[in-house]
Amino acid sequence: MVGIRKARLASFVLLLTCFASLLVLFVLIEDRERLYIAAAVVIAVHVACWWFVYRRILLSEAAFFEAVEEDMYAVHFRFRTFETAVRHIKDGVVIVSEEDDLVLVNETVKGLFAAYKLDGELDASRYDEFAAGFSEKLERKNILESANKNLPPETINVDGQYFKIGYVALVPEKGKWRGAVAVISDVTESTKADRMQSDFIANVSHELRTPLTNVKSHAETLMTGSVEDEGMVLDFLEIIVSEADRMNGLIRELMDLASMDYTGLVLNTSESDLPSLARMSTRKVGGVAQKKAITVNCWIDDSMSLSVEMDRGRIEQVLDNVLNNAIKYTEEGGRIDVDIISGQNCVQIVITDNGTGISEEDLARVFERFYRGDKALTGGIGGTGLGLAISKQIVEAHGGTISLESKDRRGTKVTVSLPVSKVRGIPGIL
Ligand code: ADP
Repeated sequence: MVGIRKARLASFVLLLTCFASLLVLFVLIEDRERLYIAAAVVIAVHVACWWFVYRRILLSEAAFFEAVEEDMYAVHFRFRTFETAVRHIKDGVVIVSEEDDLVLVNETVKGLFAAYKLDGELDASRYDEFAAGFSEKLERKNILESANKNLPPETINVDGQYFKIGYVALVPEKGKWRGAVAVISDVTESTKADRMQSDFIANVSHELRTPLTNVKSHAETLMTGSVEDEGMVLDFLEIIVSEADRMNGLIRELMDLASMDYTGLVLNTSESDLPSLARMSTRKVGGVAQKKAITVNCWIDDSMSLSVEMDRGRIEQVLDNVLNNAIKYTEEGGRIDVDIISGQNCVQIVITDNGTGISEEDLARVFERFYRGDKALTGGIGGTGLGLAISKQIVEAHGGTISLESKDRRGTKVTVSLPVSKVRGIPGIL
């Protein structure tokens, strides 16, 4: 624009000087022929000057517009890049203008509203309706107000999912705010992890406090010297030792879990015979079972051999845990069966008992860390609620599965399924 103004001014000045020069010539030169020649020269000189000046101005103007176009393109490109990024980032973004207009709602927010059957474009008139269905915190008025008041981020719970909403006011350089942005992050995982951590600490404290209180009270009673009967003294000492064992077991399981979480479960695998391991684990619990007059039937043929790629120590830990549970949760005179079913791709170790069984409600949660069934708690049966959680982690690290079926007061069936080794016959031939 400045260039065009300059060009106009230059043209005007040249026109004036041209007229002035012609006027002077007209007064000074009398001879007509010479006057015409001089006038032609003056006009030609002025036209040449005008063309030269005009061209220079137009060229610089063109360069200016070219630069402006480039800048605008760069700005537009940046704007589109940011807009695309904002539209598709994992966090939800809603931008509202000062006039209460909806500037942008990204795909994540639309995904959150999808449960409310969102179809077509989400314009300002429909936005609040959907936002209110999700949470009133996302209504435009609330976003503007919260950002204006500089409120800290807040966490909301929507159908068991946790979302953190942060508000930022859009303040241009002059200091007058022109709108607000709400950023919505799904924090379900971290919130649950935080809760699990505090539950974990509460559970560990509780699990340690109970045996510790028992140890302390029995030791204190013994110290007073009031228990004179030798049999009772022995009973008290037995309780102290068994409670110490319980604490020891809990600490061992905790350390096991901690190392699994920290380094991941490191398996030391090799080809190993599963039936012989299952027979050995069954024999190991024989003594404890006998004390409760529980019959343990091992249906695994002595001649049966099945090679499985496994960490023998870890699978032994799983079988020990499942078998000890079967004994713990089976009343005196009960029965436990141990069997192996060999399939094409997997081998199943099936351990059934006709014990207390598990209620439907408990069954859904027995693999959770620290979860203990109602009967375990009310029946005063010792345990930490970690055994099945650890077993599950071990079996799954082997590419297998562990499942529990149970009928309340009828019994429980635990199936540990492991993939059989692919290597068959003489290795290295094909
Ligand atoms: P713990 O036995 O130390 O409580 P587990 O993780 O081994 O912990 O088991 C979790 C819960 O599963 C137990 O508290 C119990 O309620 C239930 N459970 C496991 N095995 C059996 C079983 N064979 N019979 C009945 N309940 C069982």
